[in-house]
Amino acid sequence: MQQQPLPEYEIYALRFASMARRTGDNFIFRDEHDAAVSMDFFVWLVRHGQTAILVDTGFGERSASSRQRALEHCPIEALRHLDVDPSAIRDVVITHLHWDHAGNLDKLPNATFHIQDAEVEYATGRCMCEPTMRRAYAVEDVCDLVRRVYEERVRFHDGNATLAPGVELMHIGGHTRGLQAVRVHTARGWVVLASDAAHYYANMERRNPFPIVLNVAAMLAGHATLAAAAASPDHIVPGHDPLVLRRYPRVAGVPVDVACLHLPPAAIA
Ligand SMILES: [Zn+2]
Ligand SMILES: [Zn+2]
Repeated sequence: MQQQPLPEYEIYALRFASMARRTGDNFIFRDEHDAAVSMDFFVWLVRHGQTAILVDTGFGERSASSRQRALEHCPIEALRHLDVDPSAIRDVVITHLHWDHAGNLDKLPNATFHIQDAEVEYATGRCMCEPTMRRAYAVEDVCDLVRRVYEERVRFHDGNATLAPGVELMHIGGHTRGLQAVRVHTARGWVVLASDAAHYYANMERRNPFPIVLNVAAMLAGHATLAAAAASPDHIVPGHDPLVLRRYPRVAGVPVDVACLHLPPAAIA
């Protein structure tokens, strides 16, 4: 039987918030050249024809006010600028349950949420008795996900899985116990959405992980896994790096920052 060619998806990174940091805060081994740097917050839309898969759900007003983080606009409502009605989204990948990736579940009334077994076990288990381990989780977001379990709207994955032809989930430890990156087939080859398996390009390039890390060895092994899954280093998209918007072509004519990850990035500035 002849194999169908894989679809070539479009991938969009939608920025919905940013915060100011110092580069020194971004590495477990401090950077000598401490400078101002932004941390951008994204959700990602993977699209082909009528198929639209959302990767992560960002955060909403609840976390913005409790953590005093500026939310520029709702990341779910922003999908409308790409002609996507949030109520039409059927599949949402939650890369992990940290507060900046797993809010807003109530704004996706018809979605099934895809998550790793290990992430739900971690976020509801004994490690959360420890303030240091639960710092980046918001209990209400975790409860919202658990409510979706009882509504039969969560699909659990145990390791790598194919979500659709050309869209693959990759379980990568390190940052949390059950983080999953997403590998997507595009016209330029396989692109990997790293999420927080790599916050910044520099975390990978310098082999110096971001300080929110459960297991440093697994994090570094995860960088190698991302590299092996992507067509080239230019096909790995870090989770929070402002360089993403500088390197990739933008969607013109929309009032929000959206980068086209299915198009080739510009040379590194
Ligand atoms: Zn995270
Ligand atoms: Zn994050």
